Amino acid sequence: MAASLRSPEMNKKMEDHRKAHFSDGSCPLCIKPALKAFVYWKIIPNAFPYDLIAKEHRMVVPIRHVMEHEITEEEWAELRTIEDQEIHPAYDYIIEATPKNRSIPAHFHRHLIVAK
Ligand SMILES: [Zn+2]
Repeated sequence: MAASLRSPEMNKKMEDHRKAHFSDGSCPLCIKPALKAFVYWKIIPNAFPYDLIAKEHRMVVPIRHVMEHEITEEEWAELRTIEDQEIHPAYDYIIEATPKNRSIPAHFHRHLIVAK
């Protein structure tokens, strides 16, 4: 990744972890237990935070393993409610990587950041 919000050390930790546990193509976002679950979405911790900027780093992801274009209107509607009620009051930034910077392109996710 050219532009990274992770330190080189954190990026290496993530890559090593991925090679050790997810080289079979399984999805780390699907297996991660929810800190908070909704009907279509869950909030999960990020084990490899954007350590250059984040004090707290979580992610909001659809419970289904889907890419952005596969998300339904109903799912988007629930995300808007979750953002209004849960995310905007608790976090400083919502970050969505552009396609070239997505480390898990197959499962849509937005990063939730409490800034340092
Ligand atoms: Zn997944």
